[in-house]
Amino acid sequence: MLSLEKLAQAREKTIEILERAQIVLSPNEVDRIEIIDFGLGDLQTFGIQQLTYVDTDIYSAAEVVVFPGQICPEHRHPSFGDQPGKEQTFRCRFGTLYLYVTGSPVADRELKAEIPADKAQYFTARREIILEPGDQYTIPANTLHWFQAGPEGAVITEFSSGPRAQPEVFTDPEIQKIPQVASRGLKMILLGAPGSGKGTQARLLATKYGTAHLSMGNLLREEISTGSELGSRVAPMMSKGEMVPDSIVYEIIDDKIAQYNSYILDGFPRTLQQAEHLERSLKALRNQIDVVFLLDLPVEVVIRRLSGRRVCEKCSQTYHVDFYQSDVCNCGGNLVQRPDDHPDAIRRRMEVYRGQIGPLQNYYEEKGLLWTIDASEEMELTFGAISRVLDNEIIPNRRRK
Ligand code: AMP
Repeated sequence: MLSLEKLAQAREKTIEILERAQIVLSPNEVDRIEIIDFGLGDLQTFGIQQLTYVDTDIYSAAEVVVFPGQICPEHRHPSFGDQPGKEQTFRCRFGTLYLYVTGSPVADRELKAEIPADKAQYFTARREIILEPGDQYTIPANTLHWFQAGPEGAVITEFSSGPRAQPEVFTDPEIQKIPQVASRGLKMILLGAPGSGKGTQARLLATKYGTAHLSMGNLLREEISTGSELGSRVAPMMSKGEMVPDSIVYEIIDDKIAQYNSYILDGFPRTLQQAEHLERSLKALRNQIDVVFLLDLPVEVVIRRLSGRRVCEKCSQTYHVDFYQSDVCNCGGNLVQRPDDHPDAIRRRMEVYRGQIGPLQNYYEEKGLLWTIDASEEMELTFGAISRVLDNEIIPNRRRK
C-alpha cells in the first residue's frame, strides 16, 4: 500500500495538473480524488488518479489524471451476470494520451509508449491511438486496452456504461484491484465527535476502497462558498456550531445517495431522526447501509484537537498548530481557523454531540451494523483497524447485489 506521504504528494500533483488543464473542482471534489496504484506500489510508473463525477448502476463519468509517463496497465472489462461489461469513451482534455487497444499493431520500434522491459509481455494490445485535447475514442466492452501519458501528463474525461467499479481482468497476474470491485456498492457511515478524525479517515477509505466521500459539513460549506441562497441561510447557524434544519440536510443527502453507488457518509446522520430518514430514502432506492463505524475518543482529546485545528481556505486540508507552525498550506492557500472551532462553539458542538450519539449508537447497534473503533491513537492505526474490519468481516460477508 502507498504511504500517506506518497498519497498526499500524488493528490497535490493531481490538483496541479487539473489546474493546468483549467478544470475547476469544488473543495468537496478535491477531497474525493482517488489515487490508484494497482497494488504494484510504484505509482510513478503504474497508476491513475481519478475523480468520479457520477456513479450509478446505469452509467458513470470521471476525470482521469495520468502523470507524465504513467501507465494504466492492460486490462478488459468482461461481461458478468446479465451485464455486458463496461464500454468507455475517453475524451482528452489536456496533454497527450497514448492509448492501445487490440487491432492492427504498430511496429515495436514505432511505439510511442515506453514500457518497462520486465513487464513488456503484459502489454499485448498494440493498436496505437494518440489522443490530444479535443480527441475522443470509444473502447467497446471486453476489449483489452492500456494507456500511457505523454511528457506533460494527461487529463481524460471518461464516460462509461454501468457503474465505475466493474470486474476487470488484468493481463499482469501481479495486479489485484480487487478492493475496488469487492467494494462495489459499499455504503458506510462514520460516526464520531467533531475532531475525532472522521474527515481524515473518510478520505483514506475513499482512496483505498474507491468510494465517494460525502461529508455533510463540506457539502454545506460548499453551498456557502458558492454564495448560493441555501448557503446564505445556513452560514449563521454553522458559524455558531448549531445544527442546520433537517429539511436542508435531507435535500442534500437524498440527492447525493441517488447519485453514488459506493460511499462513506461523514457527518450524516447526526440524530436518530436523520438515521430514520436515511433508512427510508435508502429503502426507496432499494439500498442499505453495510457498516457503521463509531470513532471513539475522550472529550479532552477532542477539545485539544479542535482548538488547534487550522484549515486551508483553498484545498480544505487540515493541520494542527502543534505539528505545523506556518500560516500557509503546502498548496499555497491560507490556513484559517473555522469559526466553529473557537472554544465557545466547540463546547456547544460537544454538548449537541453528547445528546445525540447515544440514541444513534443504540439504533445501529440493534441492527448489528455498529463497530466501535478507538480513535485516540495515530490516524494510521485507526485506519488499519477500520480496514481490517472491512477486509475481514464486511466485504467477504456482504450479500452480493
Ligand atoms: P462538520 O464539518 O461535520 O463538523 O459540520 C459543520 C457544521 O455543519 C455543523 O456544526 C452543523 O452546523 C452543520 N452540519 C453538518 N452535518 C449536519 C447534519 N447532519 N445535520 C445538521 N447540521 C449539520
